[in-house]
Amino acid sequence: MDFNLTENQLMIAETIRKFGDAHIRPDMMIWDEEQIFPVEVFKKLGELGLMGVLVPQEYGGSGFGYFEYVTAIVEISKICGSIGLSLAAHNSLCTGHILQFGNEEQKRKYLPKLATAEWIGAWGLTEPGTGSDAGNMSCVAKADGDHYVLNGTKCWITHGKSCDAAVVIVRTGEKGDSHGMSAFIVEKGTPGFSGGRKENKLGMRASETTEMIFDNCRIHKSQLMGEIGDGFIQSMKVLDGGRISIAALGLGIAKGAFEASLKYSKERHQFGKPISEFQGISFKLADMKTQIEAAELLIYHAADLKNRNKKVTKESAFAKYYSSEVAVRVSTDAVQIFGGYGYTKDFPVEKFYRDSKLCTIGEGTSEIQKLVIAREILK
Ligand SMILES: Cc1cc2nc3c(=O)[nH]c(=O)nc-3n(C[C@H](O)[C@H](O)[C@H](O)COP(=O)(O)OP(=O)(O)OC[C@H]3O[C@@H](n4cnc5c(N)ncnc54)[C@H](O)[C@@H]3O)c2cc1C
Repeated sequence: MDFNLTENQLMIAETIRKFGDAHIRPDMMIWDEEQIFPVEVFKKLGELGLMGVLVPQEYGGSGFGYFEYVTAIVEISKICGSIGLSLAAHNSLCTGHILQFGNEEQKRKYLPKLATAEWIGAWGLTEPGTGSDAGNMSCVAKADGDHYVLNGTKCWITHGKSCDAAVVIVRTGEKGDSHGMSAFIVEKGTPGFSGGRKENKLGMRASETTEMIFDNCRIHKSQLMGEIGDGFIQSMKVLDGGRISIAALGLGIAKGAFEASLKYSKERHQFGKPISEFQGISFKLADMKTQIEAAELLIYHAADLKNRNKKVTKESAFAKYYSSEVAVRVSTDAVQIFGGYGYTKDFPVEKFYRDSKLCTIGEGTSEIQKLVIAREILK
């Protein structure tokens, strides 16, 4: 594997740095404080090609691979985890599901709108009673002539209210049967489809998280992706790729927290010298950087396999599990290095600290990643 960044990766990183300075940093603490989901930022990211990073150019996307995608998520998340999370959910989940499992007509209809951010996408798997145990879901679709009628509630859905299109996985068969669920595309404005309660969150506060409610929501059978009963298996494959993006989100947060800590440790003086000269601080920085490097290697290993269309279940779980935990540890150490100032909103590390925790929960908790890894290595 070549560890040098490609020209495209360097270009993406530079573009995002400039974009972040102009369009994210000035307002991100207001969005965080007031839980504002800044749709206009995503429209601008769409103009830059970052809302359809993996979508082939023939469907209006950028046509890049996973290396470029990882760079995009890392660089955005170094600035703001919320924007990184929404970017990941839009690209990997909704758009990624249609890209992998939509038929030609569905791809032609939805991908150009999603890849340019004309439309914002959501992906609904989780329900109030079923998170880790998603296959036990209750939300149902019942066949009625050429239509399906959806009923039930999804929760914790990124862009559940603001989305223009959602991929939703619902029960069409028996509980306990992994072929008892199917994936449909539902458009905003479809009668019976609405966004519900918005969560008031610890972190990732500018990334919208809401319920999605289906109340006798009638959709045409042409909105089904693949065959009836394919939905859960499709979702597991979508999550294999999605986990690389959450790993990248964690890496970006860890890098942002580390870079801020490194700078501060050289500037802050106590006992007549920079705090970086105390072994207690420099060893912390050494530990932070080592973990970041290791997380990066796991992520690029998984990304490389994905680029070559290899099975990536175990490797994306390695990357997601490790990188998420690193994000939490590094941002915790960052707050410690900043001392009292790290506990305030005047410095960036308290936000990294709050945002980091989502990485160990979303798209499969750390415990579920260990379950996936154990299952794979014990085969
Ligand atoms: C900000 C945010 C955005 C999200 N966005 C989306 C989205 O866009 N779409 C979507 O579908 N979902 C989304 N989710 C949901 C997310 O994927 C779930 O929260 C996650 O899968 C965990 O489910 P849960 O919250 O129900 O926890 P639970 O499954 O109830 O887990 C509770 C605890 O039990 C542990 N546990 C559960 N089962 C086991 C087991 N077998 N072995 C060991 N430990 C176990 C878990 O690890 C966890 O520690 C989002 C969540 C958040 C917080």
